[in-house]
Amino acid sequence: MKLIRHGDVGRELPGVILADGTRVDVGDVFPDFGEDFFEMVGMDELMEWVNDGCEGGREILPGTRIAAPVARPSKIVCVGKNYLDHAKELGEGIPTEPVLFMKATTCWCGPFDEVIRPPGAEKLDYEVELAVVIGKTMKHVEESEALSYVAGYSVFCDYSERGYQKDRGGQWMKGKSYDRFGPMGPWMVPASDVPDPQNLRLWCKVNGEFRQNGYTGDMMFSVAHILSYISQFMTLIPGDVVATGTPSGVAMGMSPPRYLQPGDYVEQGIEGIGEMRQRVVQG
Ligand code: ZN
Repeated sequence: MKLIRHGDVGRELPGVILADGTRVDVGDVFPDFGEDFFEMVGMDELMEWVNDGCEGGREILPGTRIAAPVARPSKIVCVGKNYLDHAKELGEGIPTEPVLFMKATTCWCGPFDEVIRPPGAEKLDYEVELAVVIGKTMKHVEESEALSYVAGYSVFCDYSERGYQKDRGGQWMKGKSYDRFGPMGPWMVPASDVPDPQNLRLWCKVNGEFRQNGYTGDMMFSVAHILSYISQFMTLIPGDVVATGTPSGVAMGMSPPRYLQPGDYVEQGIEGIGEMRQRVVQG
């Protein structure tokens, strides 16, 4: 079973994909997949309902837009420079503690929505990342316990406008937050189906050409470490999303940089999780 959401922007409904590929709308039975769902219902109850035959569910019509698998979260917390080869290509030093930043939640969008290059921007870049969806409130959680707070995993692209990120002063937030800079999907895989989040291949292609080819085992700070670490500085609530960093191969790290252009197709995938794809359009 995987979690999906479907429908037009702003009117999305929750759903599941069954083992045989059938897509079932669960909007008449469960709240949308957000804070209330994970807090009041949770993955166990959803799985039980699926195993009992999806009573009250309706089949999702083909051609329906697929949205991000969880509702817009309260926070999108990102880890910068978490893969050594990527930290090296950025050339800004190697972190000794996790580097944290946030993306504005208004960047939240679906896995196949068009990504918008902001007006006047010329340095649009991609970053494939393993995304973690929080299932239970986390505050001062030990690393050894951290993974038990995870509801599931998904594919995330941390789109970045490097001109805003690096050339306009201040923190990274300006370069990370434009509308559509945060597609996630195409579904959320329950944590119980991902035995080891540090044993996953992840990749990104532009117009069919591999640009990033990484392995989550190469993270400098593990998923468990990151979650525990973040929970010392802020409370993570159910439905929050943590993006765990990107491997090398981003456009900015190439010589010369090969930033995204309108019309480009960008695809991201994580082995055992899923694949998504966006077309770049000019804003
Ligand atoms: Zn990133």
